[in-house]
Amino acid sequence: MGIIRFMASITINKENFFHNLNQIALKTGSVEKIAVVLKDNAYGHGLQIMAELASDFGIRHVVVKDRKEAALIRDLFKSVLILNDEIIADTVYTYAINTLDDIKSAQSGAKVELKVDTGMHRNGIAMDEMDEALERIEKQGLDLIGIMTHFRSADVLGSELFWQQKNFMAVKEKVKQYGFDNVRVHSQNSAATLRLKHFDEDMVRVGIAIYGYNELPSVYDEVMLKPVLALYAKKTSTRVLKKSQRVGYAGDFTAAEEMTVSTYDLGYGDGWTRGESRDPYMTAENLPILGRVSMDFITLESTKMQLCIMNDAQKAAKHFGTISYEMITALSQNIQRRIV
Ligand SMILES: *Cc1c(COP(=O)(O)O)cnc(C)c1O
Repeated sequence: MGIIRFMASITINKENFFHNLNQIALKTGSVEKIAVVLKDNAYGHGLQIMAELASDFGIRHVVVKDRKEAALIRDLFKSVLILNDEIIADTVYTYAINTLDDIKSAQSGAKVELKVDTGMHRNGIAMDEMDEALERIEKQGLDLIGIMTHFRSADVLGSELFWQQKNFMAVKEKVKQYGFDNVRVHSQNSAATLRLKHFDEDMVRVGIAIYGYNELPSVYDEVMLKPVLALYAKKTSTRVLKKSQRVGYAGDFTAAEEMTVSTYDLGYGDGWTRGESRDPYMTAENLPILGRVSMDFITLESTKMQLCIMNDAQKAAKHFGTISYEMITALSQNIQRRIV
């Protein structure tokens, strides 16, 4: 406290976040039907900051990874769906049931949402385990409040999405037959929500889209989203390199002539991608990173106090051969985050 320290930081653009939520609301027809996915520190944006903004916008339902995340934000929402944790009774928490065994170990009175595997084959009970699951849920005294599935290829041009949707129709029918009718039904992630023209379920579970990235191929109607996160690094030191002096580990960058460079306080220890020094990343201000990325530092040809390193994770992901999701979730929780 009191000491001015240089540090990397992340800004969260509230206006862009609200713009993205509005775009989703146009698809669902109401804010009440949007469940915002805040797992993994809100995709690296900062769980509490994003939860507070979502709540300000009027979001009532959220999705998180585990109870540890849920506990930090529970007071802001009507329901918090926990994707993977031990199932206990609670007034706000609801739990995804991923296997039949989850039902057996669940605490009586707990709110649960049955996840059914309609084709992704990752989590959820098999479609032919439905009868057994529904019977066990009743016997165990669980409160079934939701039925859900997850799509494997909503972002892929092709018909697989529709095949999974058809499977899910049969699942919904089955639940109705059992007389469970106060059950919310949800299947759509961001890609399905942006892609599909008709929406007749109770909720969507949107993650990447609310953070500003539309990952659909461009053949689909383009919904314009705006990146919410920007990543900045602060200057630590400046020096003049003479011609042919080399920078950083292994000296991978050689100055072609005299130049002034500075070190900035961001590295792979902060969740920034190390990449390949022969194919340097260009920052948001179009400066190439010079030489190797260190654990806590990068070098750039600048003397500015602060540089914007990334303001579009999709663009950065393309450079590094990965996806926007990975670029943003990797960002360390220790980086300061603030709303602009
Ligand atoms: C992560 C996740 C989502 C959100 O996916 P996006 O592609 O980010 O919209 C939705 N549902 C489940 C079950 C998830 O695990």
